[in-house]
Amino acid sequence: MPAYEFRCKTCRHTFTLLYGSYAEYEQATPRCPRCDSTDLSRLIRRVAILTSEESRFERWTDPGRLAGLEEDDPRAVGRLMREMMTEMGEEMDPEIEEVVERLEAGEDPETIEESLSLDVDGGDTEE
Ligand SMILES: [Zn+2]
Repeated sequence: MPAYEFRCKTCRHTFTLLYGSYAEYEQATPRCPRCDSTDLSRLIRRVAILTSEESRFERWTDPGRLAGLEEDDPRAVGRLMREMMTEMGEEMDPEIEEVVERLEAGEDPETIEESLSLDVDGGDTEE
């Protein structure tokens, strides 16, 4: 289920809207739930998190970062990540690609994080 984060330019309220499908989003006119304004800017905060160098997966699997998504639906998270990468026109890191594929396969984000943390966490390297 696509989820989009917006900020209302009128009252500066920030909120997330969920759509049943991408086509539904294309046709919908998002409105501010607080003041009913349609003058909104779409936030791409999660993409910035995704492409930052540090702790990408930790941040991604932090439930707070995924607020507004259906957290028990890894497929939705995977789809959202893929959509955002596509929109940004970014090449996906092989690591991120793997995460997205595993999310889309319905794997638990925490399991994925655990299996990746050895590679991602550069804190204590064992050589
Ligand atoms: Zn508003």
